[in-house]
Amino acid sequence: MISRWRPLWCAALLLAASCSTLVAPRTILAESDLELTQKEDFLAQWEVSLDVANAFLQSEHNQSLPKGQYELRNDGMILRGPDRDYEVTVKKTTMGGLCATFGYPAQERSWGFVVGSSHRGPAVVANTFFYSVTGKRRNPEMLAELILHETAHQVHDVGTLRFTRTMHYYWFSLFYGYGGHPDEAMPVMVNHEYRSFLRERGDWPAS
Ligand SMILES: [Zn+2]
Repeated sequence: MISRWRPLWCAALLLAASCSTLVAPRTILAESDLELTQKEDFLAQWEVSLDVANAFLQSEHNQSLPKGQYELRNDGMILRGPDRDYEVTVKKTTMGGLCATFGYPAQERSWGFVVGSSHRGPAVVANTFFYSVTGKRRNPEMLAELILHETAHQVHDVGTLRFTRTMHYYWFSLFYGYGGHPDEAMPVMVNHEYRSFLRERGDWPAS
């Protein structure tokens, strides 16, 4: 039985171990294939999105995440909450690319989340963090929503944060579909609260 499954385990390990790029201010600034103005543009997109996310966190619409503040550091984000801090690191990985192929821009991890490639160009910016899975550049509001959703997985300890939970997540999705997955309940609740916040600001179409 073990030898029969060995190729699958090897493939899974190879997939997990292969190709990982840290998406962070430090790696963007070090990218030789980008002009300085391009680097500044991506970093500005990120900074403004965190301004929006922080305004939401401090608003009355936020009922499901800590009343904290994101900070953008050299190696990525940190959410400073009243009780504890959360490391929210972003990596472009092979697994993130597989998710993007199926239409999901990111997948949560215990230390942040992974994304896939979506565009031609250096991996530090040509990925589903800065672009949608259809290749459209995210505006700050859309980027903030992605960050908030993935952080909600960490805060509520749900989703693909650990191996056993990951297996359960895929098992459930296989038989019952992604929609209505119990591990998505709180992150989706955060989406609803965030969109209600944006609607009040006039930044999101009324539903
Ligand atoms: Zn989710």
